[in-house]
Amino acid sequence: MSTSQSPAGPPAPGGGEPARLTVLAGPTAVGKGTVSADLRRRYPQVWISVSATTRPQRPGEVDGVHYHFVTEDVFDGYVERGELLEWARVHGRHRYGTPRRPVEEVLASGRPALLEIDLAGARQVRAAMPAARFVFLAPPSWEELVRRLVGRGTETEEERERRLATARVELAAEPEFDVTIYNDDVRRATDELVGWMGLPAS
Ligand code: 5GP
Repeated sequence: MSTSQSPAGPPAPGGGEPARLTVLAGPTAVGKGTVSADLRRRYPQVWISVSATTRPQRPGEVDGVHYHFVTEDVFDGYVERGELLEWARVHGRHRYGTPRRPVEEVLASGRPALLEIDLAGARQVRAAMPAARFVFLAPPSWEELVRRLVGRGTETEEERERRLATARVELAAEPEFDVTIYNDDVRRATDELVGWMGLPAS
């Protein structure tokens, strides 16, 4: 695994062209959503995939912008027809998946594209599109991740232990990725991400 040191440059691991498809994954509560929201706001030239999900819409979320909110039946149809590039059941509850066609279209157009997905989904994309660049978003430290996971103190001891056990397993996936970015500061992490995507910093 290589750790990025140089946000300004887009050096592909092993050299070569900057990746056009970048997959951002990492443990729960590490801040993937915050980084991709910052990217969306400051780098509109990057296309960010809109996932389909069976989870209920939260206040403030817009259908078709944050997610395509669909029923279990509709999601089943996507899976049966092979319309998802990857999909996973996240936290053992709701299903999330990346619609395949928009990704293929945007890659054909040459626009840089980002998927913000969970680890299981990233592994499926690795199998389907090995030329993509895989970025692991890591917490600045284990203590910080624990703080973000259990910070509110509203969970039971059992729930807390379950979350920490999941986080340990998720952190262990880091060596599978091409690059690790530490989310110590959202703006800095986003700039480093776009550096790896081969885009100039804003
Ligand atoms: P949330 O429900 O908080 O928006 O997202 C929960 C988790 O689902 C996050 O870890 C996010 O990365 C993951 N996720 C969102 N979209 C997708 C997707 O299309 N595929 C997969 N595999 N995971 C996704």
